[in-house]
Amino acid sequence: RQGAARTFLTEPAVTKAGTAVRVQVNIAYPSDVDGIDIATCDGVGLMRTEFLFGKTLPDEETQYHAYRKVLEWAGDKPVTIRTVDAGGDKPVPGFTVEETNPFLGLRGIRLSLARRDIFRVQIRALLRAAIHGNLKVMFPMIATSDEYSQAAALFVEAQGALAARGVAHRLPPLGIMVEVPSVALAPEAFADVAFFSIGSNDLTQYVMAAARDNAAVAHLNSVRHPAVLRLIAAVAAFGRDKGIPVSLCGDAGGDPAAIPALLEAGLRDLSVAPAQLAMAKAAIADVAV
Ligand code: PEP
Ligand code: MG
Repeated sequence: RQGAARTFLTEPAVTKAGTAVRVQVNIAYPSDVDGIDIATCDGVGLMRTEFLFGKTLPDEETQYHAYRKVLEWAGDKPVTIRTVDAGGDKPVPGFTVEETNPFLGLRGIRLSLARRDIFRVQIRALLRAAIHGNLKVMFPMIATSDEYSQAAALFVEAQGALAARGVAHRLPPLGIMVEVPSVALAPEAFADVAFFSIGSNDLTQYVMAAARDNAAVAHLNSVRHPAVLRLIAAVAAFGRDKGIPVSLCGDAGGDPAAIPALLEAGLRDLSVAPAQLAMAKAAIADVAV
């Protein structure tokens, strides 16, 4: 069994019908990549950046070096870094606010747009790190196209400022997480984004009205509910239609029980926890799509 899993780990992911599936990894810390052979995955589908926002707010250099390390590790392969998703289940002292209903409050891109002083530091670090690899940047908790436009405009503004100072940088492709139902239901407002990444953890909790961190409602929190799968299939179809890449980076992507339904919904690009890589590839090999 272990030997079989190891074989899957080093092989590209292919279904029983011969369909290729891209499998990337989710990471939370730059040091996570130390134990991963880049040859075993198609890049980083989600680098969470909340780790940087611990007891104190991170400065530009700290962030730049953290992003650069992962980009250099990945070489030509894509590294998708998500701007900070503070709030909700991820409070940050000095940044997030006290709320009675944090999952529906000022979290993700909403907080970054409310605290542009903090967001601009991260944007500069990302623009500078982009020259060291194949960077893509995505925004968490997008609910409206206006939020995307505002965030993208801040990148362009920061790019202009770096250029004026003669600082080396590059503007990466900008995409969004699809984790708020409004986006999955009306994706046509986002035809100009570079890519979509479905956050099934949050999408499921918002569709089912069942908090992801509450064991008492865990039985409701299933990505395989037809309502959730229908939204995922709609986003996959929209992306195919418009030529916008669609991946999924929620925990469901590494769950062998969910993988068949995700591929049947039309997804061909999953991002999973490093420990799930071999198991996900083995599960993909069993699917008939
Ligand atoms: C998700 O919501 O599925 C996701 C990948 O983001 P996070 O778990 O960090 O909210
Ligand atoms: Mg999320």
